Amino acid sequence: MQSDRGEIERVVIVGGGTAGWMAAAAMSRYFDNGRRTITLVESDAIGTVGVGEATIPPIVSFNRMLDIDENAFLRATRGTFKLGIEFVNWGKVGDRYFHPFGSYGQDLHGIPFHQLYLREAARGEPGSISDYCMSCAAAAQRRFGRPQPGAQSLVSQIGYAFHFDASLYAKFLRGMAERQKVVRREGKIAQVHRDGESGDVLSVELESGERIEGDLFLDCSGFRGLLIEETLETGFEDWSQWLPVDSALPLPTANTGSPDPFTRATAHGAGWQWRIPLQHRTGNGHVFCSDYMDADEAERILREHVEGEALADTRLIRFKTGMRRKAWNHNVIALGLSGGFLEPLESTSIHLIQNGIARLFALFPDRPINPLERSEYNRGMRDLYEDIRDFIILHYKATQRDDTPFWRYVANMDVPDSLAHKMELWRLHGRVFRENAELFNITSWIAVMLGQNMVPRRHDPIADTLDEAKVAAAMRQMRAAYADTAARLPSQEDFLRRAGAWA
Ligand code: FAD
Repeated sequence: MQSDRGEIERVVIVGGGTAGWMAAAAMSRYFDNGRRTITLVESDAIGTVGVGEATIPPIVSFNRMLDIDENAFLRATRGTFKLGIEFVNWGKVGDRYFHPFGSYGQDLHGIPFHQLYLREAARGEPGSISDYCMSCAAAAQRRFGRPQPGAQSLVSQIGYAFHFDASLYAKFLRGMAERQKVVRREGKIAQVHRDGESGDVLSVELESGERIEGDLFLDCSGFRGLLIEETLETGFEDWSQWLPVDSALPLPTANTGSPDPFTRATAHGAGWQWRIPLQHRTGNGHVFCSDYMDADEAERILREHVEGEALADTRLIRFKTGMRRKAWNHNVIALGLSGGFLEPLESTSIHLIQNGIARLFALFPDRPINPLERSEYNRGMRDLYEDIRDFIILHYKATQRDDTPFWRYVANMDVPDSLAHKMELWRLHGRVFRENAELFNITSWIAVMLGQNMVPRRHDPIADTLDEAKVAAAMRQMRAAYADTAARLPSQEDFLRRAGAWA
């Protein structure tokens, strides 16, 4: 029997995809107080979305928080290291640039490195900004080294994330969660029961008639949003005027060599194609806008551009870009696809799950739930979604392509004021500011803006205070040091094998 006030004692997780099992593993690691029960419901008949293989660096901390051994995790998920994303055909057809994890060069006398680079670029030919970055240098040579905390070597500047088989990751986390006493119920939820007065969710009822009661529900049911939308009708904010792609065709292929330590995103006529190298296969897929291209043409283009033998048939996934008006409504928190969707161009969906879990830990409520904690959660999630939205829109807006109606649309569309402001600050003097807890750092913004040929009118005048010859010499030295250090690293496959991380 539950008392009216007190602790949340029964947490129910609806859904056993990546979101559900990440939440279950993390909740059971930190919120097992001996009295609390955590139950996860999933339906084998419905299954999971079955895509989502590339991540960004904060996933490294999520795994560490759960005491996961990185090499064991890579073996179990057939994972590889990711140093960033190579973008092909985005500024213009034929262009290529790298968005790295990590940073560019060394600041000199407190002056940001990119300002020195912009000054050198205005004077002559300092090469690409990627020549001054450890992660870029390693990626260019298809090599990898794991940074050691506190080490003096340039390898310590490498930033990394992972590519992995998301269904194997969910299985790995399920093992952990079940060892940590999470109860799994298999079955299809047929009904949801709510309190007549408060409107809170009381229980979910399986087709078998079994009822699972809870104080707090995590909706990890995928795009449908079984609790957050189908039950609570929270509403969805549609962002497709800025991000009009709405369809995806995944197609795994056999590997054709040692897996590259980076994702590739190649733009096509009405969208783009991902390439994600794992240990045992390569994940590919074409994300496109159905207003400008039909699925048959998208599939033909995809098949023309994959290397290696196809390992499965394609299947069409439809989505709408945007977010739920509230991530947390009543006693339901939407995590994963039920909370919203942004195309996987910058591999941010799994991070949104991770961040939603971390935010829940920071604001874990009592019963009854305090509306202040709920609205603080919603404010933070909205900020994060909007930051990611703006950064993804930048890739489309900052194009010079006008070869198809799709590219003409995105090049000419209005963008959110928050993004227009950032782009204009860059155009004036190459300045970028990272406000509050923005996800993407200054390196990320510079990589995309310069990579897509947005050259500022002028560099920051403060860069002119340094001696030209000294700056040029320091830059030559940095460039050589990055390339030499990268040349001494092993290939991704050799690294994984030596570390005991190859399955
Ligand atoms: P799902 O995997 O759909 O799981 C939903 C769960 O709910 C299932 O277990 C299902 O059985 C259960 N369920 C639903 N209804 C019921 C019911 N009535 N009763 C019982 N159980 C029910 N993210 C990244 O971070 N990187 C990427 O590279 C990336 N690429 C992507 C590419 C594409 C094309 C798409 C569409 C997404 C991509 N994502 C990516 C997003 C990523 O796939 C998802 O964020 C992640 O898989 C989480 O999904 P989920 O757990 O929210 O939902």
